[in-house]
Amino acid sequence: MANLFSGRMQVPYYYSCYGYTRGNGKTWHGGQDVVGLDSDRILLPDYDGKSISGTVVTARKVDKSTGNRTWEWGFYVCVKLDANQTPDKVNYLYFCHNAQNLVAVGQKVKSGDALAVMGNSGNAAEASPPIKHCHLEVRATSTGAGLDPTHYSGCANRVGIYGENPVKPLSGEAVRLKIYADTPISAGDVVLMQKVCQPLGIAVSAENGALITAPASAGDQITILRKAQELNLTVSLYHATVSKVQVTVDSLRVRTGPGVEEYTQVGSVKKGDVLETLQIKDGWAYVVTGEKDGWVCLGEDGQIYAKVTVLIAVAGLFGAVGAPIIRLNSNITRLNVTLEQLKQDMAQQKVSARQTHQRLWAHNTEQDAALADHEKRIVLLEHKERRREE
Ligand SMILES: [Zn+2]
Repeated sequence: MANLFSGRMQVPYYYSCYGYTRGNGKTWHGGQDVVGLDSDRILLPDYDGKSISGTVVTARKVDKSTGNRTWEWGFYVCVKLDANQTPDKVNYLYFCHNAQNLVAVGQKVKSGDALAVMGNSGNAAEASPPIKHCHLEVRATSTGAGLDPTHYSGCANRVGIYGENPVKPLSGEAVRLKIYADTPISAGDVVLMQKVCQPLGIAVSAENGALITAPASAGDQITILRKAQELNLTVSLYHATVSKVQVTVDSLRVRTGPGVEEYTQVGSVKKGDVLETLQIKDGWAYVVTGEKDGWVCLGEDGQIYAKVTVLIAVAGLFGAVGAPIIRLNSNITRLNVTLEQLKQDMAQQKVSARQTHQRLWAHNTEQDAALADHEKRIVLLEHKERRREE
């Protein structure tokens, strides 16, 4: 099914409607003015939900200077429908005020094909404010009066919003969202997403190159999804995973790292203890003990020291609104930078800070000189003035 625009459409004002809707009911408006809220692509619409086809017979821009009345339409496209497409004799559909036409004369088009980009060319630019819209006009003959366009537009001939919001919430409940991309989200995108979430009162935190939101309502999810879509980011429900280990031997050493020889013991846990795990690696688990956190060996040589259970929480289940995100990787995330790189970065920053400082200094000196010069001139002028008065 194709409407004039995909997603939601708006008939914004009474005078956007078709008929004698202007000049206190005296002036004829031969088409319907429709704004695409979710898309700016003007599509060849259906006729009452039925797919139609035709040929582009006009795709041009008429200048005011040529004196032709259609200059008012700016860039416009006219599609002549194939025969017997509709019950009435309507043949011509006009799509006007475009920012850009996307089709050429002679091109065959069918419902759903993009014809133009919504704009405010022609006399739409003279409206205040110059609102972007599509003037859809339907004529039985190329010069005839406009006929009812609502069979095509997908909008009633009334002020309102029509069509469906293409962005659906991921859940009807308030849920945590994970916002991510193929690569870690850029710092710029993080800021933009924060700007969207902050006014909604939704806290955002970072985790492994993704953003995790506090629980967002269905409506807020739509707002977040739209922005993410704009930035080419993917959004899914955030499923927090928490692993736990249950100690099955009498006593198990807790060490500073995942290994026996190179890491020292910082404590121990005992049989039956169930511990939250922040990372599992090479048969070792980093556990939260309540005293010194550290690594325990899960087993060796077919012998099990501790059993692992993984709990997957459906988004929103963990933590209250705004609560910090579960520490899946607290102090054990490895940074992809070496100490050497950090040192270089720091040195570079020092250099650029010094340069900035020098530039500022030079600028100030110049300003001071100019100011002094100025003051001198004022003194001189005052002096002259005084002499004239004397
Ligand atoms: Zn119009």
